[in-house]
Amino acid sequence: MYCESCGREMPPGAGFCPSCGHRAGDISRKKILYEKKDPGMAALLSAAVPGLGIMYSGRIAAGLLLFLFAVCGMGVGLVSAVSMGSGTDPFTGFTAVILWSVFAGQAVIWVLGIALSYKYCEEYNNYLQTHGVPPQ
Ligand SMILES: [Zn+2]
Repeated sequence: MYCESCGREMPPGAGFCPSCGHRAGDISRKKILYEKKDPGMAALLSAAVPGLGIMYSGRIAAGLLLFLFAVCGMGVGLVSAVSMGSGTDPFTGFTAVILWSVFAGQAVIWVLGIALSYKYCEEYNNYLQTHGVPPQ
């Protein structure tokens, strides 16, 4: 058994490190509390719900923002569907330009969400590995 703080050998079962006084078991308890996150899982979550994987990677605000963008886009899609039902063809003229821009934006947001989830998850894991605690 070695001290997690200074790296010197400790007597088995010791509560404190005799060299630096670091409490044994502190770090190992943290290791159980803070597990690494799976970047593949984060990407999958974002593929299902835009922004979800970003929240999973610890970036709640960024994930929520992306999710809100996605919801707004769905709202515009819904409005265009209603206008189609009311006899106006949304796929012609000015409406079509807006509609296709929104759809293109949605696709970008979706892909961006997946890519960012993966990146943020790796950053989370790197931080956890270096500091022993998740990023604040
Ligand atoms: Zn020590």
